[in-house]
Amino acid sequence: MELGRRDLLLAAATLLAAQAGGIARAADDRKIGYAIVGLGSYGLNTILPQFANCEHSQVTALVSGDRAKALATAARYGVPERSIYSYETFDQIRDNPDVDVVYVILPNSMHAEYTIRAAKAGKHVMCEKPMAVSVAECEAMIAACKTAGRKLMIGYRCHFEPYNLEAMRLARAGAAGKVRYVRSEHGFVQRDPSKWRLKKALSGGGSLMDMGVYSLQAARYMTGEEPIAVTARDSTDRTDPRFHEVEDMIEWTLEFPSGAIASCLSMYSANQNHILLMGDQGRIELEPATRYGGNRMWTGKDGREQEAPTPPPGPGRTQFAGQLDHMALSVRSGAEPIVSGEEGLRDMRIVEAIYRSAREGRTIKL
Ligand code: NAD
Repeated sequence: MELGRRDLLLAAATLLAAQAGGIARAADDRKIGYAIVGLGSYGLNTILPQFANCEHSQVTALVSGDRAKALATAARYGVPERSIYSYETFDQIRDNPDVDVVYVILPNSMHAEYTIRAAKAGKHVMCEKPMAVSVAECEAMIAACKTAGRKLMIGYRCHFEPYNLEAMRLARAGAAGKVRYVRSEHGFVQRDPSKWRLKKALSGGGSLMDMGVYSLQAARYMTGEEPIAVTARDSTDRTDPRFHEVEDMIEWTLEFPSGAIASCLSMYSANQNHILLMGDQGRIELEPATRYGGNRMWTGKDGREQEAPTPPPGPGRTQFAGQLDHMALSVRSGAEPIVSGEEGLRDMRIVEAIYRSAREGRTIKL
């Protein structure tokens, strides 16, 4: 009799625990809610449509200076009107339980302010590249997120792009032998002189701040090393009205502890999108390397001998969904995102050294 009662109690307790577990799992399975800050070209045309490819992420709020655009976008993506904010009312997002992550997709000089305000509102932050316009801003962003106990991730989508992931895997596996040299050039023709990208106060710099970040990232993730010195040269026609405030073309060399060298370039006066790794036993080459789609990759001993088949999609169905879901899973599990604020800060330290080297005409030790 006594045993039966105990069994009954045990069974009831097990059932309760299972139910509680079920509830916890259900709560866990709720998609992580994103607020998109900035309905410009990247936010509106590239990121928002990608929530349809996400498993763990959904858009739950919008922040825009243009009410009509925000209303139309909210209707399209099923965001309730109460979850539309302006830049002035942004801080009220703290009271919105549907928002877990604030995704900052604004001009570069606004990244720090909105990241810090989001962290103070108790939200996790995804911030577009470049992380900010100075090392000091990056440090303040990291500190704000740490103080608030919130995650900070940078929108380095190439870490979720299948060809780049495969190139990194091959390079680490020694497919090209000992890495000796990496080359990466990124650029596009910037035609409109009125763009914020050409206004230093908003962009923080020219092509380096925009496309150069891809070349710099490629140098670091293809070698798997941190540079110890940088030598840079700027070539800009300052009489061109597009380049009164920021650089057009800048070229820099990074030296790595292993003896490998990376030669990088960014420009606003030609279309370029390329990564090449040379090792003592072969090469890995991507061109286009970091586009939204249509990237290609080759391996070979002397040149482009073998085109890589389309690699399986990375952790998401697309690089963008992979990135959004990675942050969602980081928020859920408490793990650090693979491209955290510290990763953005590392790049910004090098970016500042590149500008300094070009300005002073000398090698800067890192
Ligand atoms: P964009 O000009 O198309 O959009 C900028 C948005 O910011 C607009 O909605 C604009 O209204 C808003 N804004 C608010 N205050 C502003 C001000 N004072 N001046 C200008 N605009 C203001 O720019 P974008 O191409 O969407 O770039 C936004 C950010 O996203 C940049 O940091 C950029 O580097 C980044 N980005 C990343 C990728 C990527 O592949 N990861 C691609 C494109 C852009």
